Amino acid sequence: MKTIIEPFRIKSVEPIYFTTRKEREAILQNAFYNPFFIHAKDVLIDLLTDSGTNAMSSHQWAGIMEGDESYAGSESFFHFEKTIKDITGMPIVIPTHQGRASEKILFSIIGGKGKYIVSNTLFDTTRANIEFSGAEGIDLLCEEGKLPEVPAPFKGNMNVEALKKTIHEKGAANIPLCVITVTNNSGGGQPVSMQNIREVKEVCRENNIPLFIDACRFAENCYFIKLREKGYENKPVIEIAKELFSYADGCTMSAKKDAIANIGGFLAMHNKELADQCRNLLIITEGFPTYGGLAGRDLEAIAIGLNEVMDEHYLRYRIRSIEYITEKLVAAGVPVMQPAGGHAVYIDAKLFLPHIPVEYYPGQALVGALYIEGGVRGVEIGSLMFGKYDKNKKLIPAQMELVRLAIPRRVYTQSHIDYVTEVIIEVFNKRNDIKGLKIVEEPPMLRHFTAKLKIAGEHTN
Ligand SMILES: *Cc1c(COP(=O)(O)O)cnc(C)c1O
Repeated sequence: MKTIIEPFRIKSVEPIYFTTRKEREAILQNAFYNPFFIHAKDVLIDLLTDSGTNAMSSHQWAGIMEGDESYAGSESFFHFEKTIKDITGMPIVIPTHQGRASEKILFSIIGGKGKYIVSNTLFDTTRANIEFSGAEGIDLLCEEGKLPEVPAPFKGNMNVEALKKTIHEKGAANIPLCVITVTNNSGGGQPVSMQNIREVKEVCRENNIPLFIDACRFAENCYFIKLREKGYENKPVIEIAKELFSYADGCTMSAKKDAIANIGGFLAMHNKELADQCRNLLIITEGFPTYGGLAGRDLEAIAIGLNEVMDEHYLRYRIRSIEYITEKLVAAGVPVMQPAGGHAVYIDAKLFLPHIPVEYYPGQALVGALYIEGGVRGVEIGSLMFGKYDKNKKLIPAQMELVRLAIPRRVYTQSHIDYVTEVIIEVFNKRNDIKGLKIVEEPPMLRHFTAKLKIAGEHTN
């Protein structure tokens, strides 16, 4: 088979800035060993997130110029609405400024004290909005999804038996919604099978619980179904997407992911009463229902991006890029989550840096080492992000210590990706020299964004 190439050519380029190792050491120290404090111009390859960092196509940029900025009844809204109706089969489409705004509106209405929202895995903003409403979120991920180094085709699946058990324990009347996140972002970008969605829907239907899809990466998930699930190998991705959404009562979406846009989101659903309530909240927070916190040009770019993302040449290149890095790292002995997910590579920092105890944040230490070695910016998904303290201020660590390298859509070429793997392997060869970190300052919530750290020195060995 021939090389899978980037299915685009480059019309406009954006420079990236080179720094020396010495400069990066100073930059990282001044950023308190926290990548969120590094200025983007000091980063060579930015893999902090795939959210809103997408490269738009010439068609999308043309759409930006054509965007209709009318306050009410914009043409761009109708293009946006029709595109989403066609893909999801859902008659009601509500634009929002990004995914979490959809979540805030939805859970303000259906959440509240004494309620439980069940899911394969709730993304952190989804969970935060559920908890903010007073409700509780319950993750019911399948067993294989919890084992990072053990490959399985659909590690994002929901545990259907655990779902039945939870409904039995909590009572169906206290569960206003089931959410399936595709792909499972917090679980390594792993896909959910069509069969699993069908089985979950059946349980929800029997118990009168609506099913919503957190659809941020629906196209990536549908492509995995095409590659891995029997009966779908010859179906176009658009048909797979239509079937996937046909099992759902509604969806939330961040257009910063699989709409290949830089901002935006939406809610779509069948239930008119719920939609009316959503629109009432929309008007006080986001705006009139035909723009919902977005400019007409954004609606246009999203509508175009939602069709481009289902192009199978694009998806093949997209999924292959992640798999390509993963394969190279596995061959070099670097411990990574397997199989490759849809949008990011996850390095197991606990295995990568066994000499650094979790109290000294091995994931964050690795993030710093990757930056110093090659100007590559990733993010820790471990005890800095999810760790808590017990009564004696002792760290209760996260389940895993991961470093995520998220790949922005259509932004980097194969040589950028080759460079990243070279940097990781170089750091792996020098791993024994990496030191752990200590927190010197931290906020009470979501501390990974603004915590300040320093090198822990001799404590780590
Ligand atoms: C990014 C994301 C969200 C939130 O979307 P924002 O646009 O960042 O507000 C929700 N769910 C998942 C799975 C996501 O990846």
